Parts: sequence; structure tokens; C-alpha cells
Amino acid sequence: MASLSPLINQLVESLTILPGVGPKSAQRLALHLLEKDKAGAAMLVENLSEALEKVGHCQKCRNLTENDLCPVCDDVKRNDDQLCVVETPAEVLAIEQTGFRGRYFVLFGRLSPIEGIGPDALGLHNLKQLVLDNQVQEVILATNPTVEGEATAQFIQQLLKAQDVVVSRIAHGVPLGGELEYVDGGTLAHAISGRISLS
Ligand SMILES: [Zn+2]
Repeated sequence: MASLSPLINQLVESLTILPGVGPKSAQRLALHLLEKDKAGAAMLVENLSEALEKVGHCQKCRNLTENDLCPVCDDVKRNDDQLCVVETPAEVLAIEQTGFRGRYFVLFGRLSPIEGIGPDALGLHNLKQLVLDNQVQEVILATNPTVEGEATAQFIQQLLKAQDVVVSRIAHGVPLGGELEYVDGGTLAHAISGRISLS
């Protein structure tokens, strides 16, 4: 982008770090901020910088928060019996949409020997301690149905084996409105093994 001056080019480049934003969109965003919404841009800078400075991890569930405890862990009305383990904060939001009222634990990843991500990086020792300290009745493993997500779920299941807690895995399967004919074999096998009794 030789037609843009260096400062603007720099801004465009930094905007491309956003997911789903390519060079063209970054260029449009940069010009919009500089041309049409300087006040909004200033607020964006301020909010981003404050969030970067203050947001850390919840001491209990590891989710992102600027306080010691996130709003879910801090809420005394939540159900202490159930603990749902997810890979990312975005998945907490997705599961909240379902009306789940238990607690969470956020791994911030999944076991991956290739990438050097082991149990310590996922805070699995803290997870075990959390289950013990809070007398959790059921741990729901909601890691993704990928090879690594499954391996992570299995590892946690083993980790909690000696504890007096039910460990369950969310069912992955046929999308609502989908036709079996078009569902891949792995998904269908999973749906069959995760079937529930109707009686
Ligand atoms: Zn929390």
C-alpha cells in the first residue's frame, strides 16, 4: 500500500491481527476511524488499553476478569453441584445461552504434545483441587470433539477417577434439522455412542 503514508500503513497492518480481518477490511477500518469517527477511535484505544492492563484470570475458574473472581464464580446463586469444563471463554458464553446454571473451568487450550501443551498449562491441578474443595457432584467435559479435545476429556476423566464425582461428556452429534445421509461417519458414530435412553 505505497499510496498510504507510513503511520496509516502501520495502523492498517496492526488491524490485520483481528480474526477475519484481511488487508482490504483493515484498510477500510483504518480510514473509517481516521476520517469518520475520531471520538470512537479514541474510546477504542482507551478501552483496549485499560482492558489489557487490568484483565487477568479468575482465581477459581481461570476465565478472563479484572477481579479476583469472575461474575459466575462470584454469584452465590449458581449451582455448585455441576462444573462444566470448556476450552475457551467463548464457549462459556455459548453454554450460558443454554440456561446452564452451574460453574465452569476454562482450560485455555487442550492437551497437545506437538505444541508442548501439557496438563500444567491447562491448570488441571487447579481443576482437581476445585472439584475437591467445592464438593462438586458432576463434572461435565465440554471440550471440542477434535482428537485433542477428546484426549483432553479422557485425561481429565482419568485424573478424577479416584474422586467421588460423576464425570460426563457432552454428546456430539447430528445437527438439528440435519439429514443422517449427509452427516459424516465420525459424527454419526459419536451420536450413536452418546445416545440417551428414552424410556
Ligand atoms: Zn471464575
